[in-house]
Amino acid sequence: MSVKKVYMETFGCQMNVSDSERIATLLEAKGFQMTVAEAEADVILLNTCSVREKAEHKLYTRIGQIRKSSADNLNNFPDSKKPVIGILGCVAQLEGETLFKRDQGIDFVLGTRAVGRVSEAIDNVFDGQKNLIDLGEREFGYDWMVADSHRQFPFVAFVPIIEGCNKFCTYCIVPFSRGREKSLVASDIIRHVLKLRREGIREVHLIGQNVNSYRPPSDSGLENFAGATAFSRLLRAVAATGIERIKFTTSFPRDFHTDIVTAIDANENLCNWVHLPVQSGSNNVLRAMRRGHTIENYLSRVDKIKASSRNISLTTDIIVGFPNETEQDFLETIKLVEYCQFTSAYIFKYSPRPGTPAFEMPDNVSAKEKSVRFLVLEKVVKNNQQKVFQNFLNKIFKVLVEKVSNKNTTQLSGHTTCQTVVNFEGSKELLGKIVNVEILEAKANTLYGKIC
Ligand code: SAM
Ligand code: SF4
Repeated sequence: MSVKKVYMETFGCQMNVSDSERIATLLEAKGFQMTVAEAEADVILLNTCSVREKAEHKLYTRIGQIRKSSADNLNNFPDSKKPVIGILGCVAQLEGETLFKRDQGIDFVLGTRAVGRVSEAIDNVFDGQKNLIDLGEREFGYDWMVADSHRQFPFVAFVPIIEGCNKFCTYCIVPFSRGREKSLVASDIIRHVLKLRREGIREVHLIGQNVNSYRPPSDSGLENFAGATAFSRLLRAVAATGIERIKFTTSFPRDFHTDIVTAIDANENLCNWVHLPVQSGSNNVLRAMRRGHTIENYLSRVDKIKASSRNISLTTDIIVGFPNETEQDFLETIKLVEYCQFTSAYIFKYSPRPGTPAFEMPDNVSAKEKSVRFLVLEKVVKNNQQKVFQNFLNKIFKVLVEKVSNKNTTQLSGHTTCQTVVNFEGSKELLGKIVNVEILEAKANTLYGKIC
């Protein structure tokens, strides 16, 4: 029997990217072959995102395109077979069976915690099972490891420490698509990081919707590490593994204990970057979003971060055009951005998500006004970024060389410890090394420099 080839596309956040890395690892272990050529695939997997309506639309457009190209293929090559199409991830979890009604081409649907059973699902579809659906929980002993060849970046590894979310911000679908918070045991996380270190990984990203809400089911692995919260103890425990660089994202402002900054100050390998999504600069909007933080307590955390000796870089997420967001609310967001001097910010136009409390609120900031606010804020963020970047000029940064630059193949590209992209001239032998780069120029989102 010939080896079945699997083509996979991933939409959305790094949890999905991380899930896809493990899905590929698992499938190859079961004898499938991953391919980047959609046309030769026996199986097409779409790992989906539902955070904004646009992401969902993209999925339905993609399914239509896949269906059309496989129909064209069947017309041209009557001996060929329609590929098996599997929908995974957040849209799968939320839509379940309705996906089969919506699109006849779909063969199976696997929810966010069922992805470990993907090979069984594919086998069952090839054995003739129709409309297979699995929205169940993770199986006991789910393997969080990823094969080197399936890592998005060969020297950087994502390490999930918590999945799901209990926060129920009024606009957000994640608690419904990803379920309740579930933290991994620290001893397993540490074992994972030690294994990665042995395999030559230089940088780990501890990931989760809200990493600092980490609450493990037992103390195992944390016994020798003090700290104000389980997360700051975990940071110290991971730092003690000796892995060279540790980043973590995303941090939830309400649960951001300043002991995290103390841990960063004391451990060189805890990187100087915090991603702390504020969402809005207005207390009225934050209350309506049910974020659980006010501007005042957000700023007190920012002040503590900025006071660190490590020159911690701060990034954020902001939603513009939330229901009832006034011009005044928006101006307060601009004021906050100017104060915080974010190195970068992801800006999103509010997108009503069915099933969330905000969906019942009037989506009363017009599409045009959302676009205006988006563009105005983008400009403010860019100006601020340039101010931050000006302080980087002529300074030397340690950069992990991750890849050849997409835009200029004579250049290499990597990240600083503060998670800024740096491009510079260099040979491919430097891939995977940490090099000193003097920053000479700053453009939008990217620094340029020379090795020194
Ligand atoms: N847990 C993180 C936090 O609390 O900040 C964020 C995770 S969420 C998947 C990523 C970002 O998507 C959010 O920070 C928010 O800015 C954005 N987002 C979520 N729901 C949205 C919606 N309905 N419309 C627009 N943006 C949204
Ligand atoms: Fe969504 Fe809020 Fe949970 Fe973040 S904390 S994933 S924004 S519900």
